[in-house]
Amino acid sequence: MTQIIDGKRISLEIKDELKEKVARLKEEGKECCLAVIQVGNDPASSVYVRNKKKACEYIGIRSLSYELPEETTEEELLALIQKLNQDASVHGILVQLPVPKHIVEDHIIKAIDPRKDVDGFHPMNVGALTIGERGFVSCTPAGIIQLLKRSDIDIEGKNCVVIGRSNIVGKPMALLMLRENATVTIAHSRTKNLKELCKTADILIVAIGKPKFITAEYVKEGAVVIDVGIHRNAENKLCGDVDYEDVAPHTAAITPVPGGVGPMTIAMLMHNCVEAMEAVTLS
Ligand code: NAP
Repeated sequence: MTQIIDGKRISLEIKDELKEKVARLKEEGKECCLAVIQVGNDPASSVYVRNKKKACEYIGIRSLSYELPEETTEEELLALIQKLNQDASVHGILVQLPVPKHIVEDHIIKAIDPRKDVDGFHPMNVGALTIGERGFVSCTPAGIIQLLKRSDIDIEGKNCVVIGRSNIVGKPMALLMLRENATVTIAHSRTKNLKELCKTADILIVAIGKPKFITAEYVKEGAVVIDVGIHRNAENKLCGDVDYEDVAPHTAAITPVPGGVGPMTIAMLMHNCVEAMEAVTLS
């Protein structure tokens, strides 16, 4: 029978563990704080920012909110980041992406102190992941590792195909699976024979950004399928990169959309935030 991997339950489990930890740290007089910066008022970004603040409240993390107007200059944003970098009471800094076009995203990512880079996007943290050192890991791929482990799915020695090579999902995902001793192949838009390649996967992780792209033809019988994609269809219903109805009956385990990978991203952001504080207070 197919195991439906329950991201809602697992993310709540992680948030509850963090809540307990944060309460213990508070008793020692240590308060965790995340600064969230949003430039402009893109509606999707506003929803993400609101959800991040709600998660902070639930866990007991103090959140500082900076809602800056669309016309904020890069210099102004960099100045705010510098101020927060120097503020010892702030443990994590998050700039909601995308930023408006007149601001160079890369400048912003590199300006955040790597010790406060709870999104795990800074080259120092990406480099640390690459060479197997400690550092912050991009939240969505880190969440997928938790989904697999907490669902008792073995990773070691398995053939894993990751479709997608973005800096925030595909590449860190592949590195994390490698760290867990899977045999990893990364596929992308120039990959030849994608179907045949996917059919070799014991674990297929799909981050293409195309609704219902992966059908049963791409999936080996009994594989584990992780769907990172998130889209709204014509009826305003959420769906993933995987055609769930078609694929699920052929899998040993699968993540639904919604309720699979999605809730894990914020849970791992909160995890990174608490880690950022612990790293400071222990050093
Ligand atoms: P992205 O930057 O657009 O990357 C998409 C990747 O898929 C690229 O590497 C691209 O290859 C590859 N690709 C596109 N068409 C393909 C095809 N026909 N065959 C094989 N590979 C193909 O997207 P992303 O930021 O990684 O996000 C992927 C999806 O995950 C999106 O739906 C996004 O909304 C979702 N997402 C969800 C969460 C969450 O919390 N659940 C978080 C982040 C992202 P090339 O490199 O060759 O162009």
